Amino acid sequence: MRHEARTSTIHRWTSLSPFSVRTLHEAYCSGHYGPALKRHRGVPPYLMRFFWSSPELRQQAALLAGLCLTSGALPPAPVADARERLPNLVRGEQLCEAYEAFLAFVPNSAITIDHAVLLLTVLAEGQEAALLPCLGCSGMTLIDRLALTEPMCSHCAGENHKSQSTNTRSTRRGEVGKPWRHSVRRS
Ligand SMILES: [Zn+2]
Repeated sequence: MRHEARTSTIHRWTSLSPFSVRTLHEAYCSGHYGPALKRHRGVPPYLMRFFWSSPELRQQAALLAGLCLTSGALPPAPVADARERLPNLVRGEQLCEAYEAFLAFVPNSAITIDHAVLLLTVLAEGQEAALLPCLGCSGMTLIDRLALTEPMCSHCAGENHKSQSTNTRSTRRGEVGKPWRHSVRRS
């Protein structure tokens, strides 16, 4: 509730009824015991497109995913039917722990706790996205599996794009230039 999760998210992860969530929110989050917090309504975010919309968001999502892995919220192996099997109180606490650590690094991120739930669920399913080592720097990066691109962080993809342009220019000058795909270190 402190992270302003949607009622449906709290209901799914705590098994509290929507009525109980509303009652608790009114009792503890309406401003009597600290700052008044919002209770968002509507359908939680469900499209991974949000994370691919900018290099910054993709990088932030990779950080959050790594924190979910270390907190134990993200299982190390794929989970079939993660949307049904992941939500429980213990994992919810691990997710909050990871999200709080993430906010310490990126205080004004556009990634909400509901986005964090989406990211965790999709990564646990392992079909649409994955957290993999970047081919350029070995840092963990978030990959859109549906885009069928090589695991490459935004930074290295940008650097390689530049070096590819440089190589193209070198080749035009008659010098030997290797395409970036052959020069990246694989691990
Ligand atoms: Zn990289």
